[in-house]
Amino acid sequence: MLNPAASARRAIPSLDRLLKLDAAADLVARYGRPLVTDAARAELAGLRAALARSDAAFDEGGFMRACAARLAREAQPSLKPVFNLTGTVLHTNLGRALMPQEAAQAVARAMTRPVNLEFDLDGGDRGERDRHVERRLLRLTGAEAALVVNNNAAAVYLALNTLALRKEVPVSRGELIEIGGAFRLPDIMARAGVKLVEVGTTNRTHLKDYEGALSPRTAALMKVHTSNYAIQGFTAAVPEDRLAALAHRHRLPLLTDLGSGMLANLEDYGLPHEPTPREALAAGADLVTFSGDKLLGGPQAGLIVGRAELIERIRKNPMKRALRVDKMTLAALEAVLEIYADPDRLARRLPTLKHLARAPDEIEAQAQRLLPAVRSAVRDRAQAEVVEVKSQIGSGSLPVDLLASHGIAVAAPGKRRNALAARIAAAFRALPVPVIGRVSDSAFIMDLRCLEHEEEFVEQLRHLDLETKGVIGDE
Ligand SMILES: *Cc1c(COP(=O)(O)O)cnc(C)c1O
Repeated sequence: MLNPAASARRAIPSLDRLLKLDAAADLVARYGRPLVTDAARAELAGLRAALARSDAAFDEGGFMRACAARLAREAQPSLKPVFNLTGTVLHTNLGRALMPQEAAQAVARAMTRPVNLEFDLDGGDRGERDRHVERRLLRLTGAEAALVVNNNAAAVYLALNTLALRKEVPVSRGELIEIGGAFRLPDIMARAGVKLVEVGTTNRTHLKDYEGALSPRTAALMKVHTSNYAIQGFTAAVPEDRLAALAHRHRLPLLTDLGSGMLANLEDYGLPHEPTPREALAAGADLVTFSGDKLLGGPQAGLIVGRAELIERIRKNPMKRALRVDKMTLAALEAVLEIYADPDRLARRLPTLKHLARAPDEIEAQAQRLLPAVRSAVRDRAQAEVVEVKSQIGSGSLPVDLLASHGIAVAAPGKRRNALAARIAAAFRALPVPVIGRVSDSAFIMDLRCLEHEEEFVEQLRHLDLETKGVIGDE
């Protein structure tokens, strides 16, 4: 005997029949047959299990709507825009530097049209891809030559591998950095085939420590900008010019890994000083490496500038081919470097600098402007107020310098304020354009320093759902 649930299950039409329905045809036109078939199959499997447990009848319209919703969900891009309200301007996990429109347009052109990437338009023969940015880099750094690779980790690797394969490079113990995302200088040196000779101590390294480490196998000296931490107190490090003099006395090159490598003078914009490649070269460094997507404000890239003869050797390293950048990176980098030609317009046109240089009262005014919208979105579930916060530059730049800023703090009253703040953060992350803030002092805090697209932010708030995330204060 069949029970009613079993007969309802039997009434489910076949996949073939379902795919012939008009509603299915619409979905096929939109998403293609393979995806629609997979979605219908997955929905059917779930439905069979559900109908086996009840005596509900198969609902064709409901089934098709479920398929459509599943397809729409799966068609969402995985990589998508978010609001970076973390207070960290160059947030590595959120894609670091934002680029100007000029760069976006240059990338779109390079993507959709043939370009003279490695083609010399004068001679009509093969060209060199790095030449598109070299001239501008030389102007901005005072270097003799420049070269571009995939990121600064690659730049450090390639420079070391070229200068010092199977040889020794002394580095101060105070400069053996780890950067987030698994860049550890000792590991990179090992993979580059270079023997690291540690000199000095964690807090103090002197010139005589380097002198004592020199041997016939020494191939270069290296200085690393300790970009994401500061050693304070009883400290000593050897300034670049003295280290360069020592290297040159022994006919060795000095390699400096600057990390961020801002091309303009940050003090001109009211910000703390960050060493520039020009300064490092002027102090005697023979090669300087830095990132394209940190303070420079461009695409992910590693830049190497310095002496022409050394750059030429790096260019010939077979690993250069494996680490080279593509035309999109070069297009974006060229557009960003072009902006640097005019320091007066830099802070307006370069998003990274614009965000870093924003005046605290302007940010506060924005916070006051947005407060009512946030308050009405959280209703009686939580309280929102404007708070003073400190922004960070991020991505291993100026680790101890914080910038005065303002934000909106959202907190729910109750005994478990920390857990509630984490749930509020989750509700903001679940918005169609996710809003990423941070949890601090039992509140969810949105630092508005980097908020652009204000209207879109307000529009997001309409979708805020604290209920589902379990934000229930127990007053
Ligand atoms: C960030 C950084 C790196 C790594 O640069 P990526 O561009 O992220 O690969 C290397 N060295 C220093 C000193 C840095 O600050």
